[in-house]
Amino acid sequence: MAQWIPDEVLMNTALIKDLADVAKDAALLQGVLMRIHEASNSSELVTYAPFTLFPTAVPKAVFQQALAVQIHYNTLVDKISQDPDFLKEALASTIAVDDFTARLFRIHQQILEEGRSQSVVLGLNRSDYMLDQREDGTSSLKQIEINTIAASFGGLSSRTPDVHRQILRLAGRMQESQCILDNNPAAGLAVAVAKAWDLYGSQGAVVMFLVEGEQRNILDQRYVEKELWKRNIPTIRRRFDDVYETGRLDQDKRLFVGGQEVAVVYFRDGYMPQNYASEQAWDARLLMERSLAVKCPDIGTHLAGTKKVQQVLTRPGVLEKFFPEQPEAVEQIRATFAGLYNLDMGPEGDKTVAMALAAPDRFVLKPQREGGGNNIYGSEICQVLEAVKGSTERMAYILMDKIHPTPVQNYLLRRDAPLKISNCLSELGVFGAYVRRGKDMVMNECVGHLLRTKSSEHSDGGVAAGVAVLDNPLLI
Ligand code: ADP
Ligand code: MG
Ligand code: MG
Repeated sequence: MAQWIPDEVLMNTALIKDLADVAKDAALLQGVLMRIHEASNSSELVTYAPFTLFPTAVPKAVFQQALAVQIHYNTLVDKISQDPDFLKEALASTIAVDDFTARLFRIHQQILEEGRSQSVVLGLNRSDYMLDQREDGTSSLKQIEINTIAASFGGLSSRTPDVHRQILRLAGRMQESQCILDNNPAAGLAVAVAKAWDLYGSQGAVVMFLVEGEQRNILDQRYVEKELWKRNIPTIRRRFDDVYETGRLDQDKRLFVGGQEVAVVYFRDGYMPQNYASEQAWDARLLMERSLAVKCPDIGTHLAGTKKVQQVLTRPGVLEKFFPEQPEAVEQIRATFAGLYNLDMGPEGDKTVAMALAAPDRFVLKPQREGGGNNIYGSEICQVLEAVKGSTERMAYILMDKIHPTPVQNYLLRRDAPLKISNCLSELGVFGAYVRRGKDMVMNECVGHLLRTKSSEHSDGGVAAGVAVLDNPLLI
């Protein structure tokens, strides 16, 4: 990603101020909206979701590579989710020491013993990448992670292209403004949800969004809901507590919540330990997993998105096992892998510890967590590893090569933040959507993208974590 905005624009403070004022109004007009922190459960006070003043240049070939590999990632996640032996082996060391993953895994085991009640599977994921700067000036696409649960911003990212188009026109960059791609992940996600709802086959049943207590980003989800209502598919929003209190299964394991039959449970909550505030939340998760409702994701698909699984996939021969007859899929997926290293007990893990301690700035240490702000960088890697290296506790982490995108200057527009130029790094996400019934993949698509940009001062964190902001790729 290269600097494309000329200095005479970037440094013209009067112009930047004007552009920023227009950009904020354009974002409000377009519906790039978020509730404010102070009132996260009311839509009386909303503001623009944070975004960049200018779009960020992304090489066309790399962008297309990311879109093209998505259907293979969909297939891979889906295959992993159906392979209990693989999940058991891949996660064995992690679940020995990480309570959260262990708990999820227990649900997985319980469902296996009881037998899966629903043969329809709905997968909505987002594979995230950064462009690693090579010495020859080109960049290569490296996967940061794949999110198989509660991947967000498919809605708001459909509204940001028009904001950037307008800013570019206002800045006299007519040609560039025509290069901002249309994008509508929410519509594609909804097509998959609708298909799953249809296959469930009960006209009166609803799609239940399982939502967090704090709903700042509700408007992002409303875009998906809107697409479903357009098809006369009713949606409801419920929390773990609601499911615990009013949920039940009938004799056929149909899920009823508050008396309404649920065809699809779409998890926008449940991805981190704090989401399970009580045992009741875990009971509710189990109830939903056991039910006939289509789960997005089901527990196996949730586990397939762990960082530990990501690391195990880089072992020689593992991808080949999942794609025995598709060497081109193996090649495309593997090309996006960064170096990932295990911290299991034994010589390999010992080697990883030594390597990280010798050059901590080359790596990121990751626990099995989601939602931003959990990874460990730099000297803190040494502190943590020194403390855990002699014990099994180290198995809760994996180590990853740090990706180095080229920093680009831009302005990050955020409520209550001063307007100042920042050195920025971007992360490209690609949305995948698929539906399988039994052995038949009835839909497998790439449904859009998300570019997020953050100041390079921050090592970690996404938009919801208050670090990154929404952006658009400008293909070059
Ligand atoms: P989470 O599930 O919490 O989003 P991620 O693996 O996406 O976890 O890491 C969070 C953030 O940390 C990313 O959005 C990215 O900014 C940064 N990050 C993660 N892995 C790397 C890496 N290998 N190199 C550079 N930055 C990384
Ligand atoms: Mg994640
Ligand atoms: Mg992430």
